[in-house]
Amino acid sequence: MNYLLIPKELRPIAEKVEARQRISEADALTLYRSNDLNALGMIANVVRERKNGNYATYIHNRYINYSNICVLSCQFCAFAAKKRDAHAFEYAIDEIIRVVREALRLGITEVHMVGGLHPTLKKDWYLALLRELRALDPDLHIKAFTAIEIRHLAQRIFRMPIRDTLEILRVAGLGSITGGGAEIFDPVVRDTICRGKETAAEWLDVHRTWHRMGGRSTCTMLYGHIETLAHRVDHLRQLRELQDETGGFTGFVPFAFEPQTTVLSHIK
Ligand code: SF4
Repeated sequence: MNYLLIPKELRPIAEKVEARQRISEADALTLYRSNDLNALGMIANVVRERKNGNYATYIHNRYINYSNICVLSCQFCAFAAKKRDAHAFEYAIDEIIRVVREALRLGITEVHMVGGLHPTLKKDWYLALLRELRALDPDLHIKAFTAIEIRHLAQRIFRMPIRDTLEILRVAGLGSITGGGAEIFDPVVRDTICRGKETAAEWLDVHRTWHRMGGRSTCTMLYGHIETLAHRVDHLRQLRELQDETGGFTGFVPFAFEPQTTVLSHIK
């Protein structure tokens, strides 16, 4: 790394990264406070190249929301609807299969599928959906459901423990679970942006359970609303701790908050 291009306050962190030492929460805050995008990129690239060489990969997938009907009303969410709402939608399995069949012809290798916490879709509907997707192509990777959807299915629809629910979904075709719903783990922030959603511990426990079953998942963070930089660092620390424990996360996806048409639109 060319240290002439690294500002003084970031050099101790750059040296740590080059020496394969872990950065602390204070280091992470220092990185967040820096506006030197080139220096941040150079430091991050040390780790990226160490892990992946000079390769960047991507997935050719089809993203599907099977329904936006949801029993919750997270304050940050512009997606969810109640059944009575004009913009509520719910796709039939046949329609989803038709869309995925078309996408397979275009060369996708993965379908990524999430929805709201639907109040009335039955266990058999979810299992039939997974089985029919699996029957379309045995090599298609089916990535589906956030941790809160898994909890909803387990508690209200399947009425069985999280682990058993995950196992039944896996047997039907589930390949990995998605990382949505993590938002920001801090409980005060969660109470303001997504009251009633699962706690951080509950989100982490769904992923921990899946990882211990040999499954893989991604993780996320929703930023740019009421959270502070310290909240972001705390969130990343908790994700890192679970990754240390299980190694089950295959990727991290930061989502920028889009306030338009949410009840939090006044905060920007
Ligand atoms: S659970 Fe998901 S879909 Fe439902 S309101 Fe919250 S963010 Fe929106």
